[in-house]
Amino acid sequence: MIPIFPETYFEIFLFLVLIVGVIAWSYYLWQQHLEKWEISEEKLCRCKNCSLTYIVARGKKESECSRCGEQNTLEEQVEF
Ligand SMILES: [Zn+2]
Repeated sequence: MIPIFPETYFEIFLFLVLIVGVIAWSYYLWQQHLEKWEISEEKLCRCKNCSLTYIVARGKKESECSRCGEQNTLEEQVEF
């Protein structure tokens, strides 16, 4: 059997802390770059009927209002 010194436990602890740190840092970078939301004003649509402002899915020119069901187009500019 291999004798384990108290220093070995400390080295194992340091190694585990380093691994957890690297995983947390990787997760932070992944959140920053891959899951970034890009909401531009061109994707906002205001309903003609009830004035609800909402985000239109990418690539769509028309969308249905979730509140009243009115069909809205993206060409109309939203002014705040
Ligand atoms: Zn509406």
